Amino acid sequence: MKIIETAREMQAYAESVRLQGRRIAFVPTMGYFHEGHLDLMRIGRKRGDVLVVSIYVNPTQFGPTEDFEQYPRDFDRDREMAENVGVDVIYAPSHREMYPEGYSTYVLVSGVTENLCGLSRPNFFRGVATVCTKLFNTVKPHVTIFGRKDFQQLMTIRRMVTDLNLDIEVVGMPTTREPDGLAMSSRNVYLKKEERESALSLSRSLLLAQSRYAAGERDARKIEAEVRHFIEGHPFVKIDYARICDVQTMRDVERIERESVLALAVWVGKTRLIDNHVLGEDLSI
Ligand code: AMP
Repeated sequence: MKIIETAREMQAYAESVRLQGRRIAFVPTMGYFHEGHLDLMRIGRKRGDVLVVSIYVNPTQFGPTEDFEQYPRDFDRDREMAENVGVDVIYAPSHREMYPEGYSTYVLVSGVTENLCGLSRPNFFRGVATVCTKLFNTVKPHVTIFGRKDFQQLMTIRRMVTDLNLDIEVVGMPTTREPDGLAMSSRNVYLKKEERESALSLSRSLLLAQSRYAAGERDARKIEAEVRHFIEGHPFVKIDYARICDVQTMRDVERIERESVLALAVWVGKTRLIDNHVLGEDLSI
């Protein structure tokens, strides 16, 4: 497995792979791997001849009061895990490499970014769209794999790839969960022991919403109210949002008539967790 740290070297490598007629699959990450990341890599392994994974904790997607400094990092552990699932290249650029002195260019995706995390994390999607554009231009993938756990992020990337005519296939993968249903996240390490039960309120409330939907309920506000009530019955929680949105526009819906997603962001103690479920789809928790 190669470790590449500069854009120039990554681009040269990607170009040589392309000249051999081989396909590049790419999984962008912020590292501190868990099974969710590894599942994306396993699909990437199947979808490309060469599998590139990036590890970069991107400062431009964190707000000034957010956890950029504390975000968990363990490069040696990540390297070993990546090697074990057959990753060919880890691209791990430095901040100086990504945002050198004088850096001034950002990518703004409107519409799908404006609700949900776009409201509570104002520069988040600008940072995500910018870093992904830079990574795509460096890794030159044919196919890229994202998790549906970050549903609005996946929709943002899809929108950007379509709008900017990027010649990349975007694959969205289901959420990988702990045996008890908690969506895997690098941030789960922040959870204190006594907060863990409260953290399960997210996935359990998705099941609750799914059962109301399956029973014929189509009033989005009613389902949201039940979800909020359920989550708020747990200690240490503070709901950031619990909204049912149209999957295409990410706007709130009143009645669930087209494909809609219940999106959750909940603080459990000092940890902000997200989860979601497209109503009507299979939910195996
Ligand atoms: P991150 O390192 O958290 O930025 O995530 C990197 C990629 O892994 C993103 O495409 C995420 O959506 C995806 N991902 C994170 N957690 C999960 C999970 N539990 N299941 C599936 N994909 C995930």
